[in-house]
Amino acid sequence: MSVPSKIETWQMVEPKKLVRTRIDVPELKPGEVLVEVAGCGVCHTDIGYFYDGVSTVTDPPLTLGHEISGQIVAGDEKLIGKEVIIPAVMPCNSCDICAEGRGNRCLKQKMPGNSMGIYGGFASHIPVPADDLCVIEDRKGMDLEYFSVVADAITTPFQAAKRADIKPGDRVVVIGATGGVGVYVTQIAAALGAETVIAIDIVEEKLERSLKFGATYTINALDKEVGEVRNIYRSYCKENKLPVHGWKIFECSGNIIGQKIGLELLSFTGKLLVVGFNMQKVEYMLSRLMAFDAEIIGTWGCLPKYYKEVLQMVLDDKLQIKPFVELRPMSRIEESFEQSHAGKLMKRVVLTPDF
Ligand SMILES: [Zn+2]
Ligand SMILES: [Zn+2]
Repeated sequence: MSVPSKIETWQMVEPKKLVRTRIDVPELKPGEVLVEVAGCGVCHTDIGYFYDGVSTVTDPPLTLGHEISGQIVAGDEKLIGKEVIIPAVMPCNSCDICAEGRGNRCLKQKMPGNSMGIYGGFASHIPVPADDLCVIEDRKGMDLEYFSVVADAITTPFQAAKRADIKPGDRVVVIGATGGVGVYVTQIAAALGAETVIAIDIVEEKLERSLKFGATYTINALDKEVGEVRNIYRSYCKENKLPVHGWKIFECSGNIIGQKIGLELLSFTGKLLVVGFNMQKVEYMLSRLMAFDAEIIGTWGCLPKYYKEVLQMVLDDKLQIKPFVELRPMSRIEESFEQSHAGKLMKRVVLTPDF
């Protein structure tokens, strides 16, 4: 554990192009610390920046990666040596939105690998503000790099579950249930007491796996019309004497078909949580929402204050990380991006620095 002379990194010099390079270690601003990266997860958002024309706030060249765990090596003396999770989005904590308790959507928020200057997680080190870091006091024997997924893949679903106000006995549908975010929505819903958790996705093998991690029933939507998926869902409700009202539906696929399924299933007093992202438009008769007294809720990021609670759920074995993570050396970043973009990965890839 020491302060390096240079930061080693894989920079995105332009979309679809990564270059391994070294950059200067910046002088830390007041309140900042330097974190030695233990692991950084490859997120769908990184792939969007890299392949799909989504712009980063900082123009390239910059280092991508916002799902980071690591150890503090410089900055506030009291913090040196601490192991931390870096929240994927860090609010400014001083604007009106933050004051209203909605800091997860602060307009001045900073996100590594996007809006924190040129710095991101696919690197040996990263300078970050210390205020909102989540300190891991005792990781109970699990390697630090695994905790990187708490930075985003687990906390974003937790925030969504909070917005949905998940309670014991709830009925939940998770669309895109086997993806990077969906696997944690099913687990969090179950951990918070949801009684029925229907997982919808398109890969049978992964759907079967979801039954061990929170899901109580699965629907394979592959090659099915939206109406067919709805009919399967309705038959299931009927057979199990489940009411059609009050379902909490999480759209995590970030896919237009998934969004259409979500809108189709939304019914009386229900909630549709939009967690996934895409650039397409869907048509919906808004009057249905009125007639159903239903809600559609967008949810973004996670408030740093929830990180401790999520971390505790992981440490208490209520949420499983390891079955959904594959560790790889960071030198395999290009291959990992390609495979993620092609949808070929069974697990979340967490890259560990091997510079
Ligand atoms: Zn992400
Ligand atoms: Zn703010």
